[in-house]
Amino acid sequence: MRMPRLGGRNRNPSLGTVGDPRILEFQYQHLHAHGLIYPLNSLIVAGLYAFIVRRDVPVPGLGAWLCAMVLLTAVRWSLLLWRPSRVDGVRRWIRLSVGFSVGSGLLWGLAIWIVPRTDLQWQVLAAASAALMAMGALPSLGMVHRAHVALAVGAVVPPIWYFVSPGTTEGLLLGLLLAGYLLNMVYAGRLVSSTLLLNLHKRLADQQLAHEDALTGLPNRRQFDIALDQAWHQALRTETPLSLLMMDLDAFKDYNDRYGHLQGDECLRQVARVLRATMRRETDLVARWGGEEFVCLLPATDARGGRSRAEEIRKAIEDEGILHAGGPAGGVLTISIGGATLVPRPGQTRFLLIEAADQALYEAKREGRNRVAWMDLTPGGAHVPTLVRAGCE
Ligand code: GH3
Ligand code: MG
Ligand code: MG
Repeated sequence: MRMPRLGGRNRNPSLGTVGDPRILEFQYQHLHAHGLIYPLNSLIVAGLYAFIVRRDVPVPGLGAWLCAMVLLTAVRWSLLLWRPSRVDGVRRWIRLSVGFSVGSGLLWGLAIWIVPRTDLQWQVLAAASAALMAMGALPSLGMVHRAHVALAVGAVVPPIWYFVSPGTTEGLLLGLLLAGYLLNMVYAGRLVSSTLLLNLHKRLADQQLAHEDALTGLPNRRQFDIALDQAWHQALRTETPLSLLMMDLDAFKDYNDRYGHLQGDECLRQVARVLRATMRRETDLVARWGGEEFVCLLPATDARGGRSRAEEIRKAIEDEGILHAGGPAGGVLTISIGGATLVPRPGQTRFLLIEAADQALYEAKREGRNRVAWMDLTPGGAHVPTLVRAGCE
């Protein structure tokens, strides 16, 4: 099984690949959840390290190093107070977090540079502490591979340079040893983040399948119910109109009988594509209700707006020109649409809106198909299914 490519472009947004806002959200949640403990632990270890080496390492350097560590931890923690609500905010938050990882890694990596050249035991302790701190960061940064790499490189490259730069054989070997640690860390980090992301990817794909209609790829009835419930409560709170369209292909049984079920399935896919293309606002939702029936939810849309959208949809299906010799309109496939609008009030349920749209659909069918009927339940509305004439809105 192929691992998701880290940092790769999101080729198929429907499959929850890296770069998908849902993955970003998980990465952010993971970094946020561990944003307190690791820096705290790092600070405690830094304090212990400073205490151990205090007699042999110049105090000004050690003090400045410790102060920088405290400062960085404080700033790192302050990032936890910011909880971005939008995707670009989350992206920026993660970028800042990676920046802090670089800072934290570099501070550990620079610890060795304040150790006197003659003190091999403290040099080894400083280098080992930096490498171990980088390794220990893996679980908390594992979701964002580049954050861990940034920390590991920052922590290990300065000690490598410290050992290698004098040009001694012993220094060279120590540098090589550290480079080996670094490679191992980057490899382990990649493995961990790939596994975490792959699991997440699979979970999201399963979740998506549970909310998606297998034939058309449109949201299924379950997702529609969730969306309607949310839109209903929103409209109730804000006292705004909510419109719903029930759509049913005309004479579709006859279509199947004439052209076969496989062609019928292909036709449903084509209809779904047209319906999806007619959606304009991000909050509009079109879903497969079941069989050859579709629904469309239009939040914050009054009866006038809903009727004209319904008429546009009806026309778009007709204009698609899907051959249907048994259709009610000159040999092409058509759709009948029943719509309803209301401003939800306490005590009412969303079934009222569904029921009203269903009645309107029945009216559209009764009146000859390939048309739109509307039930306006807002104050001043007709409260009975009324046929919408094309071009009248
Ligand atoms: P009306 O104009 O009154 O809506 O007539 P109709 O034939 O469309 O209505 P009816 O509800 O009697 O038939 C719906 C047909 O839709 C029945 C079934 O053959 C077809 N259908 C339902 N689901 C699917 C599907 O997933 N694939 C295919 N190919 N056909 C389906
Ligand atoms: Mg039907
Ligand atoms: Mg039908």
